[in-house]
Amino acid sequence: MNKSFNPTNDQSLALFDRLESEVRSYVRAFPVLFDHAVGTTLTAADGREYIDFFAGAGALNYGHNNPAFKQFLIDYIERDGIVHGLDLATTAKRAFIEAFENFILIPRGLNYKLQFPGPTGTNAVEAALKLARLVTGRPNIVAFTNSFHGVSAGALAATGNKEMRAAAGFPLANVTSLPYDGYLGENIDTLDYFEKLLVDPASGLDKPAAVILEAIQGEGGINIASTSWLQRLRDLTTRHGILLILDDIQAGVGRTGTFFSFEPAKIVPDIVTLSKSLSAIGTPMSLMLMKPEHDVWAPAAHTGTFRGNNLAFVTARAALEVYWSDSKFEEEIARKSGILAAELGSIVKDFPKLGLSIRGRGLMYGLVSRRYRELPGLVSKEALGRGLVMETAGSYGEVLKFMTALTITEADLRRGLSIIRDSIGAVAATLDSGSA
Ligand SMILES: *Cc1c(COP(=O)(O)O)cnc(C)c1O
Repeated sequence: MNKSFNPTNDQSLALFDRLESEVRSYVRAFPVLFDHAVGTTLTAADGREYIDFFAGAGALNYGHNNPAFKQFLIDYIERDGIVHGLDLATTAKRAFIEAFENFILIPRGLNYKLQFPGPTGTNAVEAALKLARLVTGRPNIVAFTNSFHGVSAGALAATGNKEMRAAAGFPLANVTSLPYDGYLGENIDTLDYFEKLLVDPASGLDKPAAVILEAIQGEGGINIASTSWLQRLRDLTTRHGILLILDDIQAGVGRTGTFFSFEPAKIVPDIVTLSKSLSAIGTPMSLMLMKPEHDVWAPAAHTGTFRGNNLAFVTARAALEVYWSDSKFEEEIARKSGILAAELGSIVKDFPKLGLSIRGRGLMYGLVSRRYRELPGLVSKEALGRGLVMETAGSYGEVLKFMTALTITEADLRRGLSIIRDSIGAVAATLDSGSA
């Protein structure tokens, strides 16, 4: 427990309401004044505890303040390790790159060069899109329905969400949106359409520099691209000289059961973007991986003051060593994934009138409520009152999104799932004279 923590009854959020912009989002869904957190337990200022089934939208795959590597950060600060260094060489950065090569690239037979763009995910996406255009000399990019790639102009152009796009305030150009796997129903391979557009000289599609996609869409509602679809997309883009950018910012770093979400499909993207959980402790960090032949940047052609956050390098390196030096962590994720999928399956069966379904992989799951699109939002609210934080996803918020830390204990996982089961029961009782 936090020794210096003095609970306060003042839970007021009035200051935020008064002075912080209307753009606030998560604080509206979870109007709680938080103070500290360890593992998967968040503690509010009044001492109330919440189970975290949200994990910083995927930025906290290793939980809060993980004791396995927190001390490395404290020690680094204590010894006045370099904190800010632009892209200067530092020992912390070298140790991270070494660990990334040894624990991630070499065991997977991957040959990539590394670029550290600005610290957020959208910075990595911007760098990736810019590089693809530079490599090919083509302006157009293909992105997919329900995608989310960030909100700076270039990344936003490749993002599906209507409200976010509208907030840009100017036309988002040079991206063609095409149907993701499954978008037109189970029996339609949406790549038939893409392939036709590419080969037909009158299709109207400007040949793209790159295709950007998530192998499992996070914000878009836990939509999964099948292995065969991903393999066909890789083949199609290779044949047409189009780069494949895999945005693994949310689904990467173990979230779907393997370090990269595209590993089960055995494809090798030309460019990969990582961020969210890469720093391991929640500090900002992003990384772009590119095949060496695509590294055509001139020195300083793409810069940034906050490239390479050294505090993030310290914990990122430690996490790679602790969790990714053998296959134990992947086995642990698979075991918890089994518990999660089984319990969600049983919830679906126990509330037949709700017409729920599940989809996901690893510890990235969605409980889909097509019949009652408002249900996930109501369940999230109900669960908060019962001491659990979780968010919704999908075009209409129709997906209840399960994103626990990968390090969650089995007991917390089961306890959280039982809160969700009870919350669904409570909400179901209020729908159409008690649908369940
Ligand atoms: C979160 C996210 C981004 C954007 O990252 P930010 O750090 O929020 O800019 C990009 N792509 C995917 C798939 C994401 O989930």
